[in-house]
Amino acid sequence: MAIPTESARVNPSIVDLVGNTPLIRLRRIERAVPGVELYAKAEWQNPGGSVKDRPALRMIQEGLSSGQLAPGRVILDATSGNTGIAYAMMGAALGFKVELCLPENVTPERKRILRAYGAGLTFTDPLEGSDGAIRMAQRTHESNPAKYFYADQYNNDFNWKAHYDTTGPEIIRQVGARLTHFVAGLGTSGTFVGAGRRLREFNEEIVLASVQPDSPLHGLEGLKHMESAMVPGIYDATLADEDVRVGTEEAYEMTRRLAQEEGLLVGISSGANLAGALKVAGKDAVVVVVFCDGGERYLSERFWEDPPEGASICGTN
Ligand code: PMP
Repeated sequence: MAIPTESARVNPSIVDLVGNTPLIRLRRIERAVPGVELYAKAEWQNPGGSVKDRPALRMIQEGLSSGQLAPGRVILDATSGNTGIAYAMMGAALGFKVELCLPENVTPERKRILRAYGAGLTFTDPLEGSDGAIRMAQRTHESNPAKYFYADQYNNDFNWKAHYDTTGPEIIRQVGARLTHFVAGLGTSGTFVGAGRRLREFNEEIVLASVQPDSPLHGLEGLKHMESAMVPGIYDATLADEDVRVGTEEAYEMTRRLAQEEGLLVGISSGANLAGALKVAGKDAVVVVVFCDGGERYLSERFWEDPPEGASICGTN
């Protein structure tokens, strides 16, 4: 017997819960800059736990409607983890097998989540980063094109279009004409390019700031150092007004502060994006920063083991 409940609460599938994430004001962190308002776009609230639910769903939907994703085909892609989790969750919900190529050094939590959803995993050399995973996915697809739906998030326009059609309009509804800055990190660049294009059309004065690691070897999982990496086909380097560099230690520090000062346990790229936002947002700015995923996926990272002396904020209110 069906559970009697308000119909608005009953969803046909987990995929119906993607998007419409809240904004959260960062009242303690924003004290550093007079008059600034900082808002986190809480993307970990998506059902798969990250911003990547949006493009994964859109690429799958477009694959289904074009016929490239047909029953019996396997969803294939390279991923640093979050897109893979989104594919794996949606594949399970929609009845498709999923095969993923990912660097061996992604956190054990991610590997476990992916296996829990039943995805097939091929690990690539950590020293090759996400580029090694991309090359592996390309080879796997070429070996048997009829078997796979190769979503190819780095080159698939429906990646950025997902953000153009959902993330961007949500931010406009949530903040409207007061918005002065939008800040997002670059992985595939889909979030920054898609939401950024939409916001630029809404108001060409909005400052669009992209965030990248400050060196090729970094600990900012999910972000790419574009100069030394394979540049995604969907990346548009002309869009950003500011292209901010953030160091791994700075991002770790900000991630710890978010947990301890705002009660937000988020991923390292969220800390990186916020550190980047503070470099560009001056007095009286109204800033939206994308917080891509939650912190529970990173609890095995060493920087959580020994918070530095004095990290406690007891007594600061
Ligand atoms: N942060 C994290 C944790 C991610 O997994 C990703 C996706 N690789 C990003 C940021 C960057 O998002 P995008 O691919 O849309 O540039």
